[in-house]
Amino acid sequence: MALTGIQIFKLLPKTNCKECGVPTCLAFAMNLASGKAELDSCPYVSAEAREQLAEASAPPIRPVAIGKGVRAATTGGETVLYRHEKTFYNKTIYAALVGADIPEADLKAKLAAWNAYQYERVGLNLRPEMIALKDAGDAAAFAAKAKLIAETSEFNLVLMSESVDAMKAAVEVTKFKRPLIYGATAANLDAFGALAKEAGLPLGVKAESVEALLPLTTKLTEMGLKDIVIDPGSREVKQALQDQIVIRRAALKAGNRALGFPTITFPCEMASNLDVETMIAALFTAKYAGIVVMSDFKGESIFPLLLERLNIFTDPQRPMTVTQGIYEINNPNENSPILVTTNFALTYFIVSGEIEGSRVPAWLLIKDSEGLSVMTAWAAGKFSGDDVGMFVKKSGISDKCKTQELIIPGYAAAIAGDVEEELPGWTITVGPREAAHIPAFLKARQAA
Ligand code: SF4
Repeated sequence: MALTGIQIFKLLPKTNCKECGVPTCLAFAMNLASGKAELDSCPYVSAEAREQLAEASAPPIRPVAIGKGVRAATTGGETVLYRHEKTFYNKTIYAALVGADIPEADLKAKLAAWNAYQYERVGLNLRPEMIALKDAGDAAAFAAKAKLIAETSEFNLVLMSESVDAMKAAVEVTKFKRPLIYGATAANLDAFGALAKEAGLPLGVKAESVEALLPLTTKLTEMGLKDIVIDPGSREVKQALQDQIVIRRAALKAGNRALGFPTITFPCEMASNLDVETMIAALFTAKYAGIVVMSDFKGESIFPLLLERLNIFTDPQRPMTVTQGIYEINNPNENSPILVTTNFALTYFIVSGEIEGSRVPAWLLIKDSEGLSVMTAWAAGKFSGDDVGMFVKKSGISDKCKTQELIIPGYAAAIAGDVEEELPGWTITVGPREAAHIPAFLKARQAA
């Protein structure tokens, strides 16, 4: 049970030293109770008090790590109902369903096809993470296919079976990949709980309703299991969405620890075709599934889902940025043109993409503007003429390039005079306003 602010306060040092960033221990206790502060911010909490406070300071929804390697992911750990309140932390994991009775050659073909769904956007590799392997009644085949997926692909696994023996065999050959064991129910709870505990793996638990989950997760917690993923069993879209919201609200607003776990959903069991499944998956990406299991991955369904996920799980209060510095595009030499822009990730990727597409070798200087786009940065004084001039001087570009001409963004034309003053001997050229016009601009200069 979560502690109140006053109960937490009694366990703090009460020195009001302010090192945690707030004026008093009481204020810190209140922040801790409402999930707005981290216990680690106070360096003076005793080990004994720390233990007692651990539960109060734990996220209301437990973060659960699943998988190993480049596609390992954490689900859960969320602290707010709405993204704009703070941020969502751990993105929805996408899994594709495959039956263990699939011929080996077909499985290998699917793995190769699914592995190809990787997309570069704003410097990130967007890709699905997981395969849900469903037992088809043959324990040996289940274990063999699980082993094949774990050993030959980057994908991580949801092992789906309600048979303890089949699950034991599959866990034995895949536990190095930290799969999610999925299939604990009221009927097999003790055996699955013991298996997950012994193997140190996360456990999925399924019930017939949200209410029916409560005794199951309570019992698993009492057994010492912490990494639990919950499935309220609903397979009708309206009810399933309602369940997701009820679970999230119960965990965050009512502090219900028995529901404070990430969820797994099955659009693959809620629709008759992949298009409808994709729409349902989009719904659960927004509200509030930890894992979404699809019947297949196809480019036209997984790509929009990955983009939706990128947007939803990006911190709205922290613009995406790239590192300040000199970027070489198309192998520039000492006579290549020099362009400058801001470090807003979208600006960088659009501008660098257009330069790359022009095939004109160029130097692109990225100035730290705290993640603001050109016009906003200029208006906020983060891309002023003096600043840009100083940055160019200090960037070291003069050691790499003899060109003493700087091309500034068209939207920042107003800073040209100040940059010129800061960079005596340089020519300041105002470039295009729109990135799409950069290739023609650079090619025309090259031809001149
Ligand atoms: Fe109190 Fe710890 Fe904050 Fe100091 S750092 S004011 S002791 S809670």
